[in-house]
Amino acid sequence: MNSSYVIKPNDESTPAKVVLLTFDDGPKDEKMINSLMDTLDKHHAKAIFFVNGNRVKRQPKLLKMIHDRDQIIGNHAWDHEDLQKMSSSEAKKQVTDVQQIVKDIIGEKPQFFRPPFGSGNEALKDAVKEEGMLYMTWSNGSLDWDKSTKNRPDKVIQNVLDQLHPGSNILMHELPWTVDALDELLTLLEKKGYSFVDPRAIELQSR
Ligand SMILES: [Zn+2]
Repeated sequence: MNSSYVIKPNDESTPAKVVLLTFDDGPKDEKMINSLMDTLDKHHAKAIFFVNGNRVKRQPKLLKMIHDRDQIIGNHAWDHEDLQKMSSSEAKKQVTDVQQIVKDIIGEKPQFFRPPFGSGNEALKDAVKEEGMLYMTWSNGSLDWDKSTKNRPDKVIQNVLDQLHPGSNILMHELPWTVDALDELLTLLEKKGYSFVDPRAIELQSR
């Protein structure tokens, strides 16, 4: 991953036309998560599910379900709040509390961190690194969180395609219209020659 959060191959034998799939702000709903994972499986794709600790605490079995189906858990802070507005010790606790609850449930800690709203600073990046995680925002926003996209799977797809580039780090959310868009989106990406990077192949030190 480079400093713009774009996924780059480590050597020339690795295809450059890859995308990273990510789903933020869960876990919320068993049916939505299962549908996302069914579609990912159909396309032999792995994704990072960036979870909030407060949601994990309410529904730990959903976290376990994602892990048990071999998808990847990422840390999206305990609360969905702007960590830059907190003291560095409060922000750090937002990170480490999620590491702990995820470890308690699935037996391992997340290796990827994405701050809510993409909002962070150097102190936060240091805290994330200390936890052995790779800090990332995204390079391709589906805008599925924006009201212009509400109930519009076609717009989710169009927004991703409009911003598509090799190594796209695609931000999506656990939302019904994204669930509805995913199969067609992945099919279109494959038709354009893209494959889906396995997050576990990403080096944890950014380049
Ligand atoms: Zn978020």
